[in-house]
Amino acid sequence: MIAIQNGRGYRSGVPLPFKASPNIGGKLVPEYIVLHDTASGLNDSGPISWLTDPISKVSAHVVIGRDGKITQLVPFNVKAWHAGQSIWAGRPLLNGFSIGIEIVNPGKLQVVSPGVYKGVGTYDTNKDPSLVVKRAKTAAHGDGFWLAYTDAQVAAVHDLCEGLCKSYGIKEIVTHWLISPGRKVDTNPLFPLEQLRRDLSPLLRFTKPVTFAEIADDAPAPAEGDESAGGGDELAPVTPGTDYAAPIGTRDTDESAGGVPALWRLAKSRITQATAGMGLTSVVGLLSDWRSLAVICAFIVIACCGYIIYRRSLVQ
Ligand SMILES: [Zn+2]
Repeated sequence: MIAIQNGRGYRSGVPLPFKASPNIGGKLVPEYIVLHDTASGLNDSGPISWLTDPISKVSAHVVIGRDGKITQLVPFNVKAWHAGQSIWAGRPLLNGFSIGIEIVNPGKLQVVSPGVYKGVGTYDTNKDPSLVVKRAKTAAHGDGFWLAYTDAQVAAVHDLCEGLCKSYGIKEIVTHWLISPGRKVDTNPLFPLEQLRRDLSPLLRFTKPVTFAEIADDAPAPAEGDESAGGGDELAPVTPGTDYAAPIGTRDTDESAGGVPALWRLAKSRITQATAGMGLTSVVGLLSDWRSLAVICAFIVIACCGYIIYRRSLVQ
């Protein structure tokens, strides 16, 4: 049980350990939770030092250790710098409207010898049976060996997300690989994302659970070995059917410019946003057709009214 008060977390009434990061933005109204891996060794002290170092220019709201310990670095109502170039539901740069949770995990591993793997460190599953490494492959992650999360970590993520959902009315829980496709692969494929979203679906504003398979199929394959290719301009939204992903500023310009094409594009982008991540491609299509039909009908009605008024004015 984790409660949130004034941006700080309390576990069973006890404040979470807090180490302030200087890498913060302004006030945050959280709408999403973004899950990350630290891509570090197994100790939480390394990532905590890095995320609180002014030189790193990165941060997260919390770090969750292998033992389930949650260390808070940034108040939940203040922006942290965890997402970088990212987009979700047609909206770019998630640092502005999301909470970042870093889970201690080394990321993709290489096989050294049977039972021994190498990443940031070396992981010998023969010597340490608490280390579980599995091979997994998804469209977004590629094929690889990954270190399983501990039960304590999964439970801590669940409890924290539950508390955050209750406090902030979170729309959806996403991962870095979902919001930065082709650039990031965290969290790794062994994280029980589908289960977490299903468990907390009564608390999420987007309540339809999305299966892992659906997400994996929708996400483009990662750019092979080209980290620099993940520039903001090249990022495509994951949501199927989203064909209008211009920055918010551009959308606002279009909106104020008026005109049916701009309004129609805006309406379509809003529908896509509202249904993004819910796997409701068919509903988007249906609503899109309905909207276009409504615009056409409105035109016909306005034209008819105009004609009638014109005829009456002639009679008088
Ligand atoms: Zn990340």
